[in-house]
Amino acid sequence: MFKKILVANRGEIALRIIRACREMDIQSVAIYSEADAGSPHVRFADESVCVGPPDPALSYRNIPNILSASEITGSEAIHPGYGFLAENAHFAEVCEAAEIKFIGPSPDSIVLLGDKAKARSVMIENGVPVVPGSKGRILGEKEAHEAAEQIGYPVIIKAVAGGGGRGMRLAWKAEEIEQAFQTAQMEAKASFGDDGVYIEKYFIDPRHIEIQVLADEKGKAVYFQERDCSIQRRHQKLIEESPSPAVDDALRKELGRAALKVVEAAHYKNAGTVEFLLDKDQKFYFIEMNTRIQVEHAVTEMATGIDLVKQQIQIAAGKPLAFKQSQVKSLGHSIECRINAECPEKFTPSTGVITAFHLPGGPGIRVDTAADVQSVVTPYYDSLIAKLIVHADSRDEAIKKMKGALSEFVIEGIKTSIPFHRKVFDNPGFIKGRYSTSFLERLSSATPS
Ligand code: ADP
Repeated sequence: MFKKILVANRGEIALRIIRACREMDIQSVAIYSEADAGSPHVRFADESVCVGPPDPALSYRNIPNILSASEITGSEAIHPGYGFLAENAHFAEVCEAAEIKFIGPSPDSIVLLGDKAKARSVMIENGVPVVPGSKGRILGEKEAHEAAEQIGYPVIIKAVAGGGGRGMRLAWKAEEIEQAFQTAQMEAKASFGDDGVYIEKYFIDPRHIEIQVLADEKGKAVYFQERDCSIQRRHQKLIEESPSPAVDDALRKELGRAALKVVEAAHYKNAGTVEFLLDKDQKFYFIEMNTRIQVEHAVTEMATGIDLVKQQIQIAAGKPLAFKQSQVKSLGHSIECRINAECPEKFTPSTGVITAFHLPGGPGIRVDTAADVQSVVTPYYDSLIAKLIVHADSRDEAIKKMKGALSEFVIEGIKTSIPFHRKVFDNPGFIKGRYSTSFLERLSSATPS
């Protein structure tokens, strides 16, 4: 097993990884930017190294500085968390070249799955149901028109290097395709440095269902019960739950089998998430695979009793998975709310000093956060300040628990998404489990202004 791991991240996920290291008797090294010198992940790690100024491009994404920090501290492995360098194949490659174990899949898997158009075609070849769409990248407006006609409107133009809901544009009819193509291409270039785009059928009111997988270095893989991540804003998740109220045992098995096909096709190792859209006829379609630990991994941990971060470390150390598919448990129901520093109506960022901070507690309540009273929420990093996760025997009980926890959670000094979450947990559609990725649009159009 590794003796020392460098955690190439910040915030709650850095703390989460540091805790896993501590429980495994592994020394942890935190990296931090000048803006984070007083952060808990720096205080709780065994060692820490400043890697640059607040701008993440110069610190948390600064590969030479992170590698130096790793070498100076004698770290044998790097855990990238999510975001920053987690899905950067070049980083995984240079770690390999420096003989530092990257805790994640191989650079080849990251390259394949990081190009969503390429991933689609490999999955089609391997018999995985994929959202109907273009064969590969769309190179010009004429090709976009032809592909859209063939698929049938509405269509969505997406960045091949996409992530975080960026670089996506909808076209409801032929007249809109040119504009959608140009804007998606521009946004893709600006956000990802690659203007490659592809086209998919746009589903109306689908659910976002994803399957967590673990695969060891020998290729043995297991899947976990699905997470439903349909409550989103601007194509980004806000609430996740497991199991999904829309998935029964038979569908769960089919999803799991499809996810394992994706793992095999991509020669995937370590933890990953296979994402699908589920339509109203209960048919599912692959959209992409995320090659890292997800923000919402804790939902699966609570609903299965498996510590996914420890599993990641064990797999990276070459240990075989210690359990079989038939030993993966389903333990009740788990729900997560992402508590973001943002205005709960418009979802615009809110920065400043947290002047009061009180966490909810009690059985079945978990809060993953690196925030505290006097923490400063800066504009440099993403707006997630806490993850509130509940676990109970049934969905109804989990909802009740979440309502109680949300009412106890106090954060003052900045605006947060807590009021939004309270509204969702009072919504009859949500309570009945009847919702889709358009939930928010419908909620706001139903709310008198
Ligand atoms: P990203 O990598 O940017 O997160 P995804 O491909 O995972 O992008 O999609 C994010 C979300 O966008 C999905 O959960 C869904 O809400 C919406 N979406 C993506 N593709 C489609 C589609 N073809 N039809 C309808 N909604 C879609």
